Amino acid sequence: MGIASQRANASQQPPEQDFLYRLAHDLARSPDAKTIADHLFSRAQQLLGADYSSLFLVNPAGTELEEVAAYGEGAESLNQERIDLQQDFAPIVQAFRQQRPIVERDWFNDPQLSARFRKRYELIRGVWVVPLLNGTRAVGAMVLGFVTRRKASAEEIRLLQILGDEAALALERAHLTEALRTSEERYRDLFENANDIIYTHDLLGNFTSLNATGERLLGYNRTEVLALNILQVLAPEYLSLGREVLDKQLVGRASPTYAIDMLAKDGRRIPVDVNARLLYRQGVPIGYQGIARDVTERRRTEAQQQESASVSAALAEIGQELLASFDMPTALDRLCRLAAKALNAAYSHTMLRESAEEGYRIVAASEGTAEQIEERQTLKLPRRRLARLFTRLAQGGIVTQTTKALRDPVIQRMFQRFHIATVLHIPLRRGSDIIGVLSVWYRQGQSLQPYHRQIALGIAQLASLVLANVKSIEELARANRLKQEFLGSVSHELRTPLNIIIGYNELLSEHSFGPLNPEQTRVLDRMSKSAKELLDLVNATLDLSRLQNRRDATVWQPVSLSTFFEELAVDMQPLRQHPNVKIFWHTAAALPALLTDPIKLRMIMKNLLANALKFTEAGNITVRAKREGSGLLLSVRDTGIGISPDSLSSIFEPFQQVPPTSPLKTKGVGLGLYIVRQLVETFGGTVSASSTLGKGSTFQVWLPLRKEPLPSATETALRAESRS
Ligand code: ADP
Repeated sequence: MGIASQRANASQQPPEQDFLYRLAHDLARSPDAKTIADHLFSRAQQLLGADYSSLFLVNPAGTELEEVAAYGEGAESLNQERIDLQQDFAPIVQAFRQQRPIVERDWFNDPQLSARFRKRYELIRGVWVVPLLNGTRAVGAMVLGFVTRRKASAEEIRLLQILGDEAALALERAHLTEALRTSEERYRDLFENANDIIYTHDLLGNFTSLNATGERLLGYNRTEVLALNILQVLAPEYLSLGREVLDKQLVGRASPTYAIDMLAKDGRRIPVDVNARLLYRQGVPIGYQGIARDVTERRRTEAQQQESASVSAALAEIGQELLASFDMPTALDRLCRLAAKALNAAYSHTMLRESAEEGYRIVAASEGTAEQIEERQTLKLPRRRLARLFTRLAQGGIVTQTTKALRDPVIQRMFQRFHIATVLHIPLRRGSDIIGVLSVWYRQGQSLQPYHRQIALGIAQLASLVLANVKSIEELARANRLKQEFLGSVSHELRTPLNIIIGYNELLSEHSFGPLNPEQTRVLDRMSKSAKELLDLVNATLDLSRLQNRRDATVWQPVSLSTFFEELAVDMQPLRQHPNVKIFWHTAAALPALLTDPIKLRMIMKNLLANALKFTEAGNITVRAKREGSGLLLSVRDTGIGISPDSLSSIFEPFQQVPPTSPLKTKGVGLGLYIVRQLVETFGGTVSASSTLGKGSTFQVWLPLRKEPLPSATETALRAESRS
């Protein structure tokens, strides 16, 4: 619209009252500065015939005026002017300072007008400035421009004042509305898009709001939620906790946070940490607001950590027990038992490949009486029946089978008979070869957890290790046994010819085959001595080999020690070498009979006495028997050469001989004391030695007094070993 036509309209202006009323009405509905400017300027043009008009707002820092709207010919180019409040535009500075409209008729010719403004506003001659004030605070300015140097009447000045007041008010209101709107938007944004579920419900638990996150996670839309009660979105086991929290909170006693599982529309569980508070209106509680944080991820990590801890613990326990197995049956029994326990299964068994390779046989099970296990052991599965399983084991490591997926009708029937739902098969490897399978059975209702696979994998590795271990132990034991047997039989074979040699020697020495010259006698003596030493060695080796092969079972019988000593004294006669040595026998009065194996006890005492005689040239040997604690103490004391403290610690080891310290030292084998210790331990007793070099030695044997011939712990172990 041209300036001339606007002027023409001015003559048909509505009365001032009506004009102001309409302006106030329009401004009150203006949501922003631009609309306010629209209304202001159309009125200003109508009423005052302004050619140009601009609305400026004070920037937040209060330093500048920023143009937000401009009207008039070419106004678009004027738009977005910035004016420094302190200096740039004299009438504006003046208007703010005087807090009233300023009319500058000949603004263009003002010598102070800057070149910038002169150039930009070259059409404008007169300028009227209306300060927009909120109280005394500058909000903005309305600037009207005239192409003529027009005067303002007092009435027009008053009108300007009113326009300014209305505009300032409207701008302030728009500003506040805007601020409120943005803050509301910001709150809404926070509420809707929070990572947490935010909801409110009334005191009875009926939902009154739910944010977008809540809708998304729970799967209900807002309308559906408004028809629900909070208890309907709780997992059943948390219902009572939910009710309790609601009740307690009402009396101000609930814990501010609690952990529950929420239930989504599709039945999904969402573990959450809830932080709830009461909502009040005018001091009266009207409902609750809850913030529920989805802790699925955290719970999952916690659960995973717990799982890996239990996996490690289970494997450590299994490893410890398995690695302490030294023979195959024990290792396999333990493997089955431990696997069933660690994998929380009903039962487990191990099948091994038969050496002939035509099939597999169950060799151990976690459960069952000896007969049941034996019965199962007769069950042999042909190779072809298990071919598919073994192919899968070779490919994948661990195989799970469910009853449904079974193809073989025989195996399927077996599953059904025992109510088996799932079986986990763990390969047992020797190197890369699968030699068997450990099968772990789950009944219906027993669940196979994902971490069970990890345990199973660990078991597979442990089992291979243990099987290899046990195999080498068994091989070692077998080799050792073979060696002992060989030694035993060689010794045995040697004894007969040796005895013949010794016998003929004696006959020769006794001149049974004619007289001998002194030279021949000396040679014969040396032969005799060497042959006897060799016989000693052979005898000791035989004793040891019998002992180690557990050939001689212990024969328990009551032995009276006084009688035993009398017989022993007779036995020892031939061994006496030095006439200056006396043997004393002491048994304490009223000693109970000792339940023992007299042959083995004699072996013990003979060895000790033989040593005492061997290492004592002159003096005494005292043999005693007395009670000590729950057993009997037998001791052999001599006044011989003694043993140095260094040697004392090793004399019970096999083939240990003390370096000779005295010319008395005779040849020995170094097995006597070792045999003594072995025998004493068979009886469950102990042997010890004390000695002073040059003064003599004392050997003490303590044996438990038995009432019944119960096998000792060692014996039980030995028996088990000899069976295996
Ligand atoms: P050996 O056949 O050599 O006697 P033993 O095992 O019986 O084998 O004894 C080991 C060593 O202990 C003997 O060689 C000897 O040096 C020492 N010894 C054993 N008994 C006595 C003792 N009563 N007095 C001194 N030394 C002894």
